[in-house]
Amino acid sequence: MTARVVSVIIRKGGSAKTTTAVNLAGALALKGKKVLLLDLDPQANATGTYQIYDTEKNIAKVLQERIKAEDAIVPVGLYDIIPGILDVGNVELQLEAIDPTNWWKLYDALKTVKDLYDYIIIDNPPSESMLVYNSLVASDGYIVPIQLEPYAVQGIGQASTVAEKSRRISPNLEFLGVLPSIVPSPVTNLAKTYLKALSDMYGDKVFDVYIPRSTEIPTAQAMKQTILEFNPEHPASVAFSKLADIIINKYER
Ligand code: ADP
Ligand code: MG
Repeated sequence: MTARVVSVIIRKGGSAKTTTAVNLAGALALKGKKVLLLDLDPQANATGTYQIYDTEKNIAKVLQERIKAEDAIVPVGLYDIIPGILDVGNVELQLEAIDPTNWWKLYDALKTVKDLYDYIIIDNPPSESMLVYNSLVASDGYIVPIQLEPYAVQGIGQASTVAEKSRRISPNLEFLGVLPSIVPSPVTNLAKTYLKALSDMYGDKVFDVYIPRSTEIPTAQAMKQTILEFNPEHPASVAFSKLADIIINKYER
């Protein structure tokens, strides 16, 4: 096997990037896939879910080429994770964009672990940075989660611009879709208006599934679980499971 790599990106914080990465990784794992979650955000929220801050095994050490990616892997139950750490922000500062090799650091680091997994899901920082470029260059596809609110919807355009730069380097990088997230339940008129606008703008690049807002999502995170483990019948669990099916159908057809 060689893993398909999927980045979750959008510059706006609070758009459900980490929630999407953690729960998509969980949903794929529950379907029998071998999954690695990679936490590229210096805030390390995905890592924080499992409280595995590790000064030795982390993504900063991997990007600095101090350890190999396979030696930074930590199993967390359903799947494996390469932990994030605040230090990765300093690594980012050292990766000058003008040195072309710096765009390929993560791609190179992941080469040896791709054979161990079906999917590698990358959670990204809320920035346009060399970390995000590294994530995209290392990826086959990217997902853009958004809240159905004016400022968030503007963020899709920014994400596309960032991806476009990465595609110059990695021409096969594919936009998998926009994932409406934290959608009020029942769906408000404002949310409906945005869903319609999104499908007018992005057509079939809006996933045919959305993630409902629910207090059970942060509750599951507090219990160090995906929503799928915490409450398998929950509408958000059903939605993430459907998203996993869409990804699997895309790559394993
Ligand atoms: P990002 O990584 O883009 O900053 P997060 O995934 O951390 O976004 O989500 C932002 C906040 O919203 C977090 O506190 C998270 O628990 C919460 N959240 C995410 N998705 C949902 C949801 N569907 N329902 C309720 N809260 C959510
Ligand atoms: Mg996050």
